[in-house]
Amino acid sequence: MQKSVKVRLQFNTTDTEKPFVHLFATKFGLVFSILQADIMPGRGGRMIMDLTGEAEDIERALAYAAERNVRVKILSKAIVWNDASCVHCGACTAVCLHKALTLDPVTAELSFNNESCVVCEMCVKACPTGAVRVDIYNGNES
Ligand code: SF4
Ligand code: SF4
Repeated sequence: MQKSVKVRLQFNTTDTEKPFVHLFATKFGLVFSILQADIMPGRGGRMIMDLTGEAEDIERALAYAAERNVRVKILSKAIVWNDASCVHCGACTAVCLHKALTLDPVTAELSFNNESCVVCEMCVKACPTGAVRVDIYNGNES
């Protein structure tokens, strides 16, 4: 069964000296995109990735990360946009640095691309009508 998960990888100071990300995804045949990365050699850091693949391959990749001492958190939140409550004011687009929320230049209507969202929640604070909210579901950390 194919599924997609958004994960946050936490690297310690020495992890950044070794190749990891390419192996983490490709070794298990996963399609991945890096949504956010803040890593410096010798300092460590973190990265948010979207992974898509067979459920068991995702599990194997997460086990591989644990073997490599990379902490992985499956993000347990998602942004939900309620079109019915949205007045298309665009306030959320000004704070969405990842362009997950965008206004169509022709129709001036908002659209939401979940794949680009890193769940920073800035849009939730910016929205005057409560049209965007955080949905919490089960996640785990290794
Ligand atoms: S949480 Fe909101 S502001 Fe942050 S990336 Fe997602 S849509 Fe954009
Ligand atoms: S801030 Fe809220 S009401 Fe305005 S466009 Fe974004 S989701 Fe819609």
